Amino acid sequence: MLYRSTRAGDADGSRTWTLEDAVLQGLAPDGGLFVPVSVPALDPRALLASPAWTDASFADLAKRIFRLYIDTDAVPDAALHGIVDRSFGAFSHADVTPVVRLPHATGAADASAPPLWVLELFHGPTHAFKDVALQFLGNLFDFFLRRRNAAAAVQQHGGKRHAITVVGATSGDTGGAAIYGLRGKPDIQVFILHPHKRISPDMVKALFGDEEFRSRYSLAAINSINWARILAQTTYYFYAYYARARATRVQFSVPTGNFGDVLAGFYARAMGLPVHRFVVATNENDILHRFLQTGRYTKPEDTKAGVDPVKQTLSPAMDILVSSNFERLLWYLVGVSLSPSFNAAADPLSGDNLRSLTVKSYMDQVKTAGGFSVPPSVLAAARSIFASDRVDDASVAAAIQRYYHVPFQAGQTPYVLDPHTAVGVVAAERLLKSSGDNPPVQTVCLGTASPGKFPEAVLSAINESVPEASKARGFQPVVFGDIAPRALVELDGLPQRCVLVRTGLVGVRQTIQGTLDTPKSHL
Ligand SMILES: *Cc1c(COP(=O)(O)O)cnc(C)c1O
Repeated sequence: MLYRSTRAGDADGSRTWTLEDAVLQGLAPDGGLFVPVSVPALDPRALLASPAWTDASFADLAKRIFRLYIDTDAVPDAALHGIVDRSFGAFSHADVTPVVRLPHATGAADASAPPLWVLELFHGPTHAFKDVALQFLGNLFDFFLRRRNAAAAVQQHGGKRHAITVVGATSGDTGGAAIYGLRGKPDIQVFILHPHKRISPDMVKALFGDEEFRSRYSLAAINSINWARILAQTTYYFYAYYARARATRVQFSVPTGNFGDVLAGFYARAMGLPVHRFVVATNENDILHRFLQTGRYTKPEDTKAGVDPVKQTLSPAMDILVSSNFERLLWYLVGVSLSPSFNAAADPLSGDNLRSLTVKSYMDQVKTAGGFSVPPSVLAAARSIFASDRVDDASVAAAIQRYYHVPFQAGQTPYVLDPHTAVGVVAAERLLKSSGDNPPVQTVCLGTASPGKFPEAVLSAINESVPEASKARGFQPVVFGDIAPRALVELDGLPQRCVLVRTGLVGVRQTIQGTLDTPKSHL
C-alpha cells in the first residue's frame, strides 16, 4: 500500500510515499495529510460470517487490519505480530477495549429505553484512548529505526545512526500517552510541551517549519494526523461491532476534537463494516457540529484580539478551534461533488488529483478567510454517515451525576463517566430520543478516558447538590480513590519536575538544543 497527500493536485499529484515515510514524516511536504491510495474492500460475507473475523481477539483483528495497509516488505509478518502484541499487551484488560452496558439513568419512565454501551478505550498505561494509537506508533517507530540502525546499514551510512526527535504540544492527554509509547526506545528523544498557563500549538508548527532545525534533529510528529494513529484506532470499531452487533445494526457516538477517533470509524465503514451511522459529539468548541448542520466550516466569530477563541470546557482534550483530521474526510467527501460528466481519462488531472486541488483550496480558505462552504451534495454525503450534536458543560455535569445517582438510588452499580465520554453519551441519548430508529440500533458510545484522569469535574458533579433520594439511601461523598485506577492514585502526591520554557519559540528551540547537544545530559 502506498500513500498520497490530500493536497497534491497538479504536477505532484502522482507522487506517493511508502508507509515508513508517511509514518515517520507525519505530514506531507505540501502541508497535506497522507491517505492510502485506496481503501481495501473486505468481502462482506467473510466480515459477517467468518470466525476469523467475528471471533477474533483484539490483537488478531489488529494484525489482520494492519496487514491490509502495511505490506510485508515494509514490516514482515513476525515483526508486525511482535509490534501488535507488545502494543496491546500493555493494556490492563484482557479484552483490551471491553464493551460494557451502561445502567439506566434517564429516569424511571425510560426504563424500557434501548440500552447504551460504552466501548472502554482507557485500559492502557495512561488511562486514555490515545494509548491505543500511541503504543502502536511508538513500537512502529522503534521497528523502523532499529532496522535502519542494523549494523550493516549503519556502516553503509558512514557509521551514523538514525535517530529522531519527537516534538509535540498538548493541553489534553496526548503528551503522557506519547511519552509512555516512546519511553525506553533507543534513538528516540521526546519533547512534549505542556501548558504552563496556555500554550500555542503553533509553536510546534513553527518549529517544524524551520527546515534547518527540523533536519538537524530529525524532528518527527506524533500528533493526531499521523496515519499510524488512525490505522490503530480502526481496530476497536471492528472489535465493538463483533462484541455488540452481529445481526443487528450498530451506531457509534464519538466524543470528537481533532476528528481522529471518528475518522478511524469512517475507514472501518469504508472497508465494509456495516455501521449504521456515527454521531459526531462535540463540546462547546463545535466547528464540526456546525459544519454538519450548515455545510459551513468556519472558525468561531469571536476571534477578537485578546480573546482566546478556544473555549475551555470540562472536556479539555476536545478543546480545539479547527479539527486537524477533518481534511482527510473532506478528501473523500469532495469526490461526490465532481461533476457526473467528469471524465478522468480525458482530463489531465485524475479524479484524485482534482479532489486534492479542491481540498487544498478549502484549506487555503481556512487560512485566508477563516473558513469555507461545501456544495449541498458534499453536505448530503456527510450527513448520510454522520449525525452530530453539541453538548455543553452543564449537560456533561448533569450526565455524570445521573449515571452515578440514578443507579445508586435503585441499588444498582453506578457508572462513573469521564467528561469526554459524557459528551458522547448525552449526544447518543438525545439522538435515540429523536430518531426513533426501527428496528432499534445498538448504540455504542466511545469511552475515551478514565474518570480518574479528570477528578475535579467528576467529583464535583457527583458530590455537589446531592439528590434527596441519594441522601435517603445513605450516600457518602465519593473520593479520588473511588474513581481512579490504582496506578493513578499512586501518582498522587509524587514530586513534580518541570522545565519552564520562557521565551516562546526561541526558548523551545534552546531547550531542545541544550538537551540534545549536551553529551549524555540525561540519557
Ligand atoms: C483526544 C481525545 C478526544 C478527542 O479525540 P479526537 O481524535 O481528537 O477527535 C476525546 N476524548 C479524550 C479523552 C481525548 O484524549
